[in-house]
Amino acid sequence: MTNRIYNFSAGPAILPEDVLKEAQEDMISYKGSGMSVMEMSHRGKIYDAIFKGAEADLRKLLDINDNYSVLFLQGGATLQFSMVPLNLMPPNNKADYILTGSWAKKALKEAKRVGAVNVAGSTEDEKFGRLPKQEELKLDPGASYVHFTSNNTIFGTQYITEPEVGNVPLVCDASSDMLHKKIDVNKYGLIYAGAQKNMGPAGVALVIIRKDLLERSSDSLHTYLNYKVHVDGESLYNTPATYSVYIMGLVFKWLLNLGGLDKMYEMNKEKAGILYDYIDNSDGYYKGTVTVKEDRSLMNVTFRLPSEELEKKFVAETTEKGFSGLKGHRSVGGIRASIYNAFPKKGIEALVEFMKDFKKNN
Ligand SMILES: *Cc1c(COP(=O)(O)O)cnc(C)c1O
Repeated sequence: MTNRIYNFSAGPAILPEDVLKEAQEDMISYKGSGMSVMEMSHRGKIYDAIFKGAEADLRKLLDINDNYSVLFLQGGATLQFSMVPLNLMPPNNKADYILTGSWAKKALKEAKRVGAVNVAGSTEDEKFGRLPKQEELKLDPGASYVHFTSNNTIFGTQYITEPEVGNVPLVCDASSDMLHKKIDVNKYGLIYAGAQKNMGPAGVALVIIRKDLLERSSDSLHTYLNYKVHVDGESLYNTPATYSVYIMGLVFKWLLNLGGLDKMYEMNKEKAGILYDYIDNSDGYYKGTVTVKEDRSLMNVTFRLPSEELEKKFVAETTEKGFSGLKGHRSVGGIRASIYNAFPKKGIEALVEFMKDFKKNN
């Protein structure tokens, strides 16, 4: 067995080792079928069971009701930036966006091509160092929907509870924290998430949509961009990312076997807590970039060192030690430790030990 390193990558990101091993066992011949999952028809019996099983396990994990459809699409979260407004902005042709980081900004940019966008809240002038508070939001009760980003992958902020939006459908980009805990899906009109951060390999965008909203999808939309087409085709309007969905299915099973999402949340809080506790007790040597503690992300822990030179050295030395992916996003600098569901606690403890030594020596 080759050694696995501590992979702090923001995405594509670490997957559970058990999942990789199971995929390895099934690689050449899936359950005695004589072919790999990559080589079989997406409309055949064997794959049908894989696909339906993945959806069923996801529904179990999140208690998703029958009034929601689940889609496994392609084009990443980025295509959802367009599909959401194209499908949901009618009939009012206006939507509220909460601006909390770079991804939210990209979502907003696409929405503006479709209709009127109201920035209902923004912390851009504070470098996205915190989330807008509920009382700061200027929501339009006539909006077609409110869009927010549950976890800001680059800036390291995360919502603990969803913004209150009354009767307006809530739309969430949950790309970097989907399945890190149990959420109440009934609060949402639509949730979307690229798989490659917390759920599986790249190639899939998961979409959960309340069925009544499908009425908004106009027949004049391009076929592939129409949610209704994908729901009617049960995500098989065209060839789905078959292997990626298979791996996601294994991740869903891994979560169920672990004890479900409440258990996962406990583990995530413990893991992130170890790192934040140390940062807060490092006499200011390490400084978290998030200015309001309640807004700190359990998934992406962002911090700075006393100088950029030291940050460079920090990244170089961690790489030497076999820690990968700790460099902050190129747009903001600093350090970012992405510690998604599959990231092991002992990797965080090892990082904290390294941070203590680094502080002592520098
Ligand atoms: C990574 C990320 C995206 C972009 O995802 P793609 O699948 O690459 O399109 C969008 N939103 C958030 C919050 C992300 O973290």
